[in-house]
Amino acid sequence: MCPRLARARAAARCLPLVAAVAIATCYGHAKPGDIDRARLLAADHHPDQWLTKGGGFGETYYSGLKSINTANVSRLGYAWGFDTGTVRGLEATPIVVDGVMYTSGVAGRVYALNAATGKLRWRFEPKIDPRVYRSVCCDSVNRGVAVWQGRVYVAALDGVLYALAAASGKVLWSADTIIDRSRGYASTGAPQVAGKVVVIGNSGGEYDTRGYLSAYDLQTGRLTWRFFTVPGNPDRPPESSALKVAAKTWARNSRWDIGGGGNVWGNMTYDPRLNLLYAGTGNGAPFGHARRSPGGGDNLFVASLLAINPDTGRLVWYYQETPGDEWDYDSDAPIVLATLKIDGRPHKVLMHAPKNGFFYILDRATGRLLSAKAFVPVTWASGVDLESGRPRRNPQADYDTKTAVFSPGEWGGHDWNAMAFDPQTHLVYLSTTTGDAVLANSTDKTRHPGLLNQEVDATPPSGVTLADPGSDLSAWDPIAQRIVWQVPTAQFWDRSGVLATAGGLVFQGSADGHFRAVDATSGKALADLDTGTSMVAAPMSYSIKGVQYVAIMAAWGGAGWWIPNPAFAAYRYGNAGRILVFRLGGGRTPMPQPLPPIGPVPAPPPQTASAKEIARGQALFDSDCSVCHINIPRGGTPDLSRLPPAIHAMFDQIVLGGLLQDDGMPQWGDVLSKDDAHAIHAYLIQASWDAYRAQQKEKAN
Ligand code: CA
Repeated sequence: MCPRLARARAAARCLPLVAAVAIATCYGHAKPGDIDRARLLAADHHPDQWLTKGGGFGETYYSGLKSINTANVSRLGYAWGFDTGTVRGLEATPIVVDGVMYTSGVAGRVYALNAATGKLRWRFEPKIDPRVYRSVCCDSVNRGVAVWQGRVYVAALDGVLYALAAASGKVLWSADTIIDRSRGYASTGAPQVAGKVVVIGNSGGEYDTRGYLSAYDLQTGRLTWRFFTVPGNPDRPPESSALKVAAKTWARNSRWDIGGGGNVWGNMTYDPRLNLLYAGTGNGAPFGHARRSPGGGDNLFVASLLAINPDTGRLVWYYQETPGDEWDYDSDAPIVLATLKIDGRPHKVLMHAPKNGFFYILDRATGRLLSAKAFVPVTWASGVDLESGRPRRNPQADYDTKTAVFSPGEWGGHDWNAMAFDPQTHLVYLSTTTGDAVLANSTDKTRHPGLLNQEVDATPPSGVTLADPGSDLSAWDPIAQRIVWQVPTAQFWDRSGVLATAGGLVFQGSADGHFRAVDATSGKALADLDTGTSMVAAPMSYSIKGVQYVAIMAAWGGAGWWIPNPAFAAYRYGNAGRILVFRLGGGRTPMPQPLPPIGPVPAPPPQTASAKEIARGQALFDSDCSVCHINIPRGGTPDLSRLPPAIHAMFDQIVLGGLLQDDGMPQWGDVLSKDDAHAIHAYLIQASWDAYRAQQKEKAN
C-alpha cells in the first residue's frame, strides 16, 4: 500500500480532508504509470483500469465492466481516435492506468494519451537499426508495453529494450538485448515484469537464431540473468543445468550453427503469488526435424511452456507441447491463468491454445498436464496421453523422407492473438483457424546468415485434396473440452484478438474493417461498426468518470501482411494506423479515404539481361525478397512490376545503399553484390514487361 495512504487511513477519523487529499495523491494522477504488486493483485476489483496487456495478472482479456452490455451495445459508437502516422501492423493491446493510455505501435513506437479524449501526452520513436528489417518474417509490429512503478517498458524492433518515464516518455535506461547482430534476431513481443526484473525474448526462428530470454533490473537496466531455450555448440559447456537435460534430446550432429530456434517471440505471463514467470517457446530452427537434428530427439525446449523463477532465472518446470516440432508449431500463444474446477476440485491452472491445435490445461505450480483436447481438426497427432503428457503422433504427418500433408497448417489452429477467459460463462473465446498445409524437407544444407533458413511449402501429392482453410471466432468450454459456439470470420487468416466483458459481450475487430460485439453465451451478433480499417489486435476496456470505453489498435499486419486481399479493408482504404475508442451514444466512425483506382502499368525500361541472368535474379528474389514482396497491386509493399522510371533509376541506391531504409526497406549492400542486385533488377524488369504486355493485349481486345 502507498505509505501516504496508510498514514491517511490512520488519520482519517480526525482529519477526513487530509485523508481525502492523500488518497487522491495515491490513487489519483500524481504519479503516472503507478502500478505495483498490490494494485496488480487487486486488479479484478478495479475494472476501470487495464493494467497489463491482458488486463490483470491472469492475462484473461476479461473486463469486469458492464455499463456496456447485451441490452445496449447496439448504441455503441465512436468516442475518439488517434492517428499513429504509420502504415504497418498494429498488434498491441493498450494499457490504461489512472486515465492515461499507454500503447505501442510499429517497430516499438510508444504513445501516451489522455484516455478520455485521445489527446497526446507524449510519444517515443526509437531509432531502429535498419538491418533488422531483413529478418522480420511477420511485419515490423510490436505487441505491447509493460507499465510498472512509473515506468513504461518497450522492446524496439531491433531488440533494444527501453525504460521510459511514464510521466514524460524520457528514456531512463536502454539495453541491447541481442547477443549476435549477424543473425536474424528481432523483437516484437511485449516485455513482462516479473518480481524485480523485466523480461524480454526475441524472434528469429525462421532465420538463424538461438532463442533466449533476458531479464533486466527494473530500476537500473542491468542484465540480471539470461536463459537460453535451446542448447548451443555441444563442444562448449551448457549455460544452465536445464540445458544439460535439453542437450540429451538433440542429436550430436544437430544444426546448432543455424541456431536451434525456440524463440520466445510471443507471450509471457507472471504469477506474483507463485513467483513464476511463464513463457512459450517457438518452433525449432530450421523447421525440418531431419535437417535440424539428424537422428531425431524431442529437441527441448522448442515448442514448449517454461516456468522460470524470475529471481534466479532457473527453470522450475517445463512442458513440451510438440516434441521434435517440424510444423512451425510455435507455443507462443497467450498464457491465461485462472482457477478452474476439474474433477470437482479447484485447480490453479494455466490455459494454452498453441498453433498445434490442442487446448492444454496445466497445474501452473507443478506443470502437471490436467487436460489436452483438439480445438480444431488435427492430423499431426491423434491425441495427447495424459499420463506421459506426450502426443500420439501420426507418422503420415512427418516429412523427414517424404512430402507430408498435415493439420493445422503452419499458420496454426490459434496463434499469438489474445484469447479471453470469462469467469461468468466459464468459456474461453479465441479465433481459430483450420485447413491443411503441405511441407517437404529443404535440400539446401547451407546456413544463410541472418536470412531465412526454413522449409519450403510443397505441392500436395497427387490425388490428395486439401481441406479448405477457414477462420472462426470460437467459444470453447475448457472443462467439457468442446466448442460451444462458432462464428465464421470474414476470411481465412482473419483471426484477431478478443475481449470478453461482464456485460455478457465478446468484442473483436476484423480484417474486413468491422468492429463487432457478440453475445458471450450464443455468439449472436449485437453490434457491428464499419471502421474502414483492418484490425488484428485485441480490444480492451476501461472506464473514466463512470463512462465505459472499448479501445482497439487498428491496422492490418502480422504474418502474411504483404499479401493483398480484396476482402480486407486495407485493400480498399489502405492501412493508415489508428487507435479507435468506442462508447455508448458515440458517433459514426470517421472512414478513411478510399484508395484511388489501380493505375496502368508504366512502360518498363528495356531488358538488356540474358535469360540466365534473369533466372538467377528470380532465384535471389525468391529467397531474399519474396518474404515481403509480391508483385500484385495493393499489398503491404509496393508492386515491383509497376515501378515508375524514377525508381528504376535509383534501384541500386535503394537495394544496396538503403535509400528507403527509414521506410522499412533494408539496405542489402553487405549481403548482395552489385551483380546480384542487377540480376534481381533484370528479373523485375522482365516481370514488368510481362505485366505491361498483358495490359496492352487487354487494351487491344
Ligand atoms: Ca514460427
